[in-house]
Formats: sequence, C-alpha cells, structure tokens
Amino acid sequence: MIKKLLIILFVLLMSVSCSLSNKKQADTTDDNYRVFYEIFVGSFSDSNNDGVGDLRGIIDRLDYLNDGNINSKDSLGIQGIWLTPIFLSPSYHKYDVIDYYRIDPSFGTQDDLDELIAECHKRNVLVILDLALNHTSVQNEWFRQFQIAHQNNDYNNKYYDYYVYSPENDRPSGMTFCSLDNTYEAYECNFSGEMPELNFDNQDVRNEVLNIAKYYLNKGIDGFRFDAARYIYLNNTDSSVNFWKWYTEELKKIKEDIYLVGEVWSSDSEISYYQAEMNCFNFAMSQTDGMIARSAKSEDINRFTSYIETYQSALKRISEKAMPISFISNHDMDRSAGYLNVSTGQAYIAASLYLLSPGSPFIYYGEEIGMKGSRGGANTDANRRLAMLWGDGDTVNDPEGSTYEYKNQINGTVKEQLQDKNSLFRHYAKLISIRKNYPAIARGTYTRIDLGQNNLGGFAVTYNDETLYIVHNNSAEEITVSTDAYSKLLEYCGFAEASYKNNELKVGPYTSVILK
Ligand code: CA
Repeated sequence: MIKKLLIILFVLLMSVSCSLSNKKQADTTDDNYRVFYEIFVGSFSDSNNDGVGDLRGIIDRLDYLNDGNINSKDSLGIQGIWLTPIFLSPSYHKYDVIDYYRIDPSFGTQDDLDELIAECHKRNVLVILDLALNHTSVQNEWFRQFQIAHQNNDYNNKYYDYYVYSPENDRPSGMTFCSLDNTYEAYECNFSGEMPELNFDNQDVRNEVLNIAKYYLNKGIDGFRFDAARYIYLNNTDSSVNFWKWYTEELKKIKEDIYLVGEVWSSDSEISYYQAEMNCFNFAMSQTDGMIARSAKSEDINRFTSYIETYQSALKRISEKAMPISFISNHDMDRSAGYLNVSTGQAYIAASLYLLSPGSPFIYYGEEIGMKGSRGGANTDANRRLAMLWGDGDTVNDPEGSTYEYKNQINGTVKEQLQDKNSLFRHYAKLISIRKNYPAIARGTYTRIDLGQNNLGGFAVTYNDETLYIVHNNSAEEITVSTDAYSKLLEYCGFAEASYKNNELKVGPYTSVILK
C-alpha cells in the first residue's frame, strides 16, 4: 500500500515537473552574446520552385530555426542569422556586387527583406548582412565609369580613383594586379579579375561604403559580417585597422548595440589588432586542424581548455566588450562531417566544445545535421555550399559547378533527425537551450580546471559572483573521477549519459556536464 502511494506521488511529481518544463518560455536575451546561424542564401530553401534558395524560403523555415520557445525540441533555437550576400551580382555566391542597393532578383525583393527582418525580430532573432566592401563586380557601374575615365585619361572623373590603380612601373609586391583594357595599366584584383578592389584612400569611396551600411541599418538590419576585412589594405595591417576603426565608429553612432563581426582570416596575433574595433571570427578554432576538431578527436582536453582560457583573457585585455566568435566551418571550408564522425559521437562533442564556450558561436547551415561536402577532386567551393538536406521536398538545388554525390550524405535529413530524439540536430537544439538557461555560459569568465585526466576536463565559469562548472569527456570511453568539488549536477548532454553521486562524477563518451 505504501509502495503504491509512493508510486502515485512519484507520478504526480513527474507530471508537475514535466508540465513546468513544457511551459512556453521566450528568449529574453537582450545583448549580443548569441548563437548565430550562417545561411548561404542560394542553397538554403526555395520558395518559388526555381531551384534557387531565397529570402521567402528563409521566412518559411523560421520555425525550424527558432519558433520562439526556448525549450522547443523541434526548433534549433538560434538567436541570429548571417545572410551571405544578397545584393545584385552575376555569381551564384554573390560576393561580387553589381549594385548594393538592389536585392538580387533570384533571392527576392526589398519587401521580402523587410518581412524577414520583421519576422525574425518577433522571435528575438537578429539579422546581419554580409558586406563584401573590399571589391565589387567588374559589372558594377563604378568600375565601368573607372574604365571609361582611364580610357579617356579623364583625371577629373569622379570614378578615376575609385579602384586601386597602378601604372606599369609601380606595382606593390604581394598584391595581384589585372590588366586594364589590355594595357600596361592595371587594377588590384587579389581574388579574381572579376573582383576589382576599391580604393579606400578615396574619401568618396569611404562615403559610398558607409552609406550602404546606413541604408540597411535604417531598414532594421541589426549588424554586419565584414568580408575580407584584412584586404582593405592588403599587407598593411595598420591602414586596414584604421579603416575599420573609422567605419565601425560611424556605425556605432547610428546603432550603439550593433552586431559586428569581421573576417580576418589570419593568425590570432593579426586578428587581435582588429579586435578592438569589432569582434572577429576565431579561425584557430575552425577546420580539420583547428582546436575544436583536434579536441573532438581526443587530443589532450587540457590543450583545448588552456586555449579557451588564454584566448578569452587576451580579448578582455584588448576590450571589455570583445568576445570570442567560435565556429567549426563556413562556406569557404570543407564541411566538418567529413572529418568529425557523427555515428561515433565526435560531431556531438565538437558541438558541445564550441556551444558551451564563451561569446557568440556561429553554426554553418547544415552543420547541425552533419551535412557533408568538400572541395574534392573537382576543387570547387560549390561542394561546400550544397542544398540544405530538408528531406521534405524543398526544391532548392545544389549550386552550379558542384560535383558532390548525394549518396555520400549518410547522416540523415532534417525530417529524419526531427523524428529521432538522439539525433545530432536534437543535440544542437539542447545545447542552445542550455546556453539560454545559463547566461553564464556565454558571458562568464572561463578558468581551466584540471581533473588530472587527458580526456576529462573543463572550466570554472564565473558570472555575477556565481560559479558553474563545465566538464567535457572528449573520448570514446566513459570516465569516472572521485571529487567533492561540486554540489550538484545541473545538466548533461552529448552522446551518452552522466551522473554525480556519492562524490563520484561519471561522464559517458563524448558527453559534457554542467555542475554547480
Ligand atoms: Ca527561389
């Protein structure tokens, strides 16, 4: 009888706790410590059956990205989206812009952008645009005028100095130049002849690129990702940094809490020069030889935790507002599921390592489902930007030039992973919900803790005078340690389970715990 009563009591308690956790809870984040999601627009979701992803396709997929409920299990829960360039451009990737004030018609209209911004803001999701300002398309009217001015030796033409011009005997080394109209004269073209580089010594050019950002801020855009930031003055860090100092200060006058992130694809030391002006992607974390992947492949966890502690404290010395921007891959990199195995758990611990870390991490679309894609023998970036694997009849196609074979996509579609409570997608969604429930994870100060193990280690994270602990097991084996350092296990997530009882912390393979 007593046993029966206890069971009834237990069931009642469980139903109370379940109903509490099912209560719809909105994200109240009001700062920039957010999880972002990079959308390669042409490959994400197609709303009008022409095979090209578009802005309306993103609007249609917002419930997948963030349905407004922190604890939703069917929504990823990201708090910001980075749209790769959406302006009129001749290429599929659109990093060479013809007109910064026109949305590429294959992606939609200004009205679509307005609606996307409004729908995102309803869900507390920020929208940042990718500004490729260093170079334009050769089809940009500015470049056409530049060519005409040089053909006519028209020094008074406003556009004569719009691009970096060089006569025959005056070529700075370490930069690439392309011939202008088959003459000895040339223009700077580090990426390709199709992408002439603007001349930022010209104040008119500076005003042009400032006006572009102002225009989109007035439309409600929350910030920008700056493409090729170190190319503004290639091989002249001081001049490039000075440009960004001027540019970002002007933007902060308009919107103090603007979200800015720069692509300075270089060493930590070069990145640090830019970090006082804007946050920058932490490239050392990314790719197959980066900190996340090496740790996910069971390198001594203390190397990872030492790096995070050192990097965060280095940023704090530069600026109190500086934060790490971690990521595994982006549209210029082979996809991580090619070197981080999903079925063995490596991809799970990789996700935990960067989503349970400070700052504002970025997820490349499809990373959350273990999508694959690499340059391969065809050596094409298109393979890194394949159509999102919805599995529900979305008509979005792979970009032109891609050669990756569909049969290699072994980790399942969105539709399949939504039906599997242990899928990689579910793990990403859980990590993001944990990040929202414990503000310290994004905002706290990380100090490495040494558990005397090569594959079990983590951090004490201090925020607002409280401390919580994050511990990762980055191996394929369960690890148990005796410790009385903690009072309670708050959460665990990953590939297996974890417990903390009788001063014994037991963490399953590729699993992480949060303790207090
Ligand atoms: Ca379309």
